[in-house]
Parts: sequence; C-alpha cells; structure tokens
Amino acid sequence: MTIYGAVEGGGTKFNCLVATDKDNILAETRIPTTKPDETMSAVVDFFAKFEEEHDQKIASIGVACFGPVDLNKQSPTYGCITTTPKPYWAKAPILGPLKERFDVPMDFEVDVNGSAIGEHTWGAAQGLTDFVYYTIGTGVGGGAMVGGQMLHGLMHAEMGHQMMPQVEGDDYPGFCPFHGHCFEGVATGPSLADHWGKPAQEFGIDHPAWELEAEYIAIAMMNTVLMLSPQRIILGGGVMNQMHLFPMIREKLLKRLNGYIQRPEILEDIDNFIVPPGLGNYAGMMGALAMAMKVAA
Ligand code: ADP
Ligand code: ZN
Repeated sequence: MTIYGAVEGGGTKFNCLVATDKDNILAETRIPTTKPDETMSAVVDFFAKFEEEHDQKIASIGVACFGPVDLNKQSPTYGCITTTPKPYWAKAPILGPLKERFDVPMDFEVDVNGSAIGEHTWGAAQGLTDFVYYTIGTGVGGGAMVGGQMLHGLMHAEMGHQMMPQVEGDDYPGFCPFHGHCFEGVATGPSLADHWGKPAQEFGIDHPAWELEAEYIAIAMMNTVLMLSPQRIILGGGVMNQMHLFPMIREKLLKRLNGYIQRPEILEDIDNFIVPPGLGNYAGMMGALAMAMKVAA
C-alpha cells in the first residue's frame, strides 16, 4: 500500500499525519509552532521515525501552511513563508527542511487553499470548478478554486484583508495591524474579543456582536460573489462554530445583492450556496493529504 505524508502548518501547531487514504490514518502528531528550526525538525523527525519503525517509505508529502507563502515554483523562496508579523517566522523555509531529508514529490499550498482542496476532494465542494473556502478564526483567510485550478497568480489571494465599510452605528476602528478595518480586522475571534471586551465563546446567542458580525461577513460574501463568481462559498474556522450565523449571513447576503445576480443557486437555494465545511476541522489536514496523493500519482 502506498503511504503519504501530510502537514497542516498553523500559527499555533503543525498537524502531521501519515495515511494511505482519508479513512486510513496510520500515525498522527501535533507539533507546537515555536521557532521554525525547532518545529520543522520535529516535523521531519515524525516522518523519519515512521519510516524507520515501519520499514516503509513515504511516497510523497503535501504541505498546507499559514501564510503569506511563496507558491511560485520558479522562485528561490518557493516553499517559504514571506512576510508574517509572527515572530521568527518571516522568511522561514517550510518545504526546504522536508526536501533536504526526503527525496519524494511534494506539493505546497497556503493553508486556506489546502482546506479548499480538502473540501473539493472529500467535502462540501465535490464536483465544483469554482468556489471559495473562508476560514474565520484567529485570522481570516480565503482560498479560491477558479476554473478547476487553485488561484495562485502573483502568490495567492488574500481575501481576508478586503476592506470593510463601516456599518452604520459601528465605530470600532478594527484590529488589523496593516489595514485597520479590513475583514480580518473586524471579524476574527481576537478582534471580536477586543471589540466587545470578552471572548466570543462567551457572548451568548443574543449578543449584539452577532448581528454586526453577520453583516460584515455578508459584505465579504457579496464582494466574493461579485469578484469570483463562485458556485458555492464554504465558511469554516472557530468563529463559524456559531452556527446561528449561517442563516443570518444568507439573509443579509440576499438583501445586499438585491436580486442583481439572477441565479437559482443564490435566489432559490442559498442554504446550499453558503455552507459549513463538509470535513469540519479536518479540511486543512485532508487537503494536505489529497495534495500528497495527487502529486504522487
Ligand atoms: P485558527 O484560526 O488558529 O486555526 P480557529 O479557526 O479554531 O483556529 O480559530 C480560533 C478563534 O476562533 C479564536 O479566536 C476563538 O475565539 C474563536 N472561536 C473558537 N470557537 C468559537 C466559538 N464557539 N464561538 C466563537 N468564537 C470561537
Ligand atoms: Zn488587514
């Protein structure tokens, strides 16, 4: 049986696994995101140890990492993080340490594109050619598939930093160190906590924060519909555990679009247009696995 390696690199932990398929995971670990050398050696060791203990070679590795990252295969910094404000991690090589140790095909993506690939392979975007996956958690990120390909362009999309107009009655200046009142600046867990003075988990369903949150997410959804013409939008991440946001976002999106996009997918079937991830919290991990399986084939 062919075995594959997968890495989901996040700001707090790197999830790694070895598997033969989605439903056959052979080994799994979580490595804290401390310093690049430390974290990446632990990732390499995890796979090396698996190979030794099982006397079996890993056929390929897929890596989906927090960004911004360099996805340009011609670039000398391909496989590296670029400009993160996260201490120690700017310019950190992610793919490099793995390439040094394992001479196998590898694929590299920014985390949200990885989640999108997971959803496309086994989740809520199966069979689609154009869709967007957003995560709304510690940060906001958006990964897009366009015409059957993950959107890279210059690097990858950064939809989490689209600017947000100030909704009437809201004077919160926003939390993004780069742009203030961008999507990430108003809609993440940390920005909600900063705005309202306690963790979002403790708000309760009637808290006024949710009306505003749904409004801002609906604005981002409208922008996304207009800019990328997706067949579906998946909303994941910690904040979207607040499932009551889904009907609010759908209603507000319809209201804001105001009948302009005359498609039955939106006008008649909005419940299947704005959806939670089919793979839940495993979208990123499964995406990295799907990338490994594809690059080995
Ligand atoms: P990350 O973005 O770091 O990968 P998550 O997507 O889990 O991780 O996002 C974590 C953020 O989501 C935290 O800021 C937390 O406040 C927020 N969060 C997690 N669960 C909930 C919840 N049930 N309700 C509201 N916010 C939540
Ligand atoms: Zn921003």
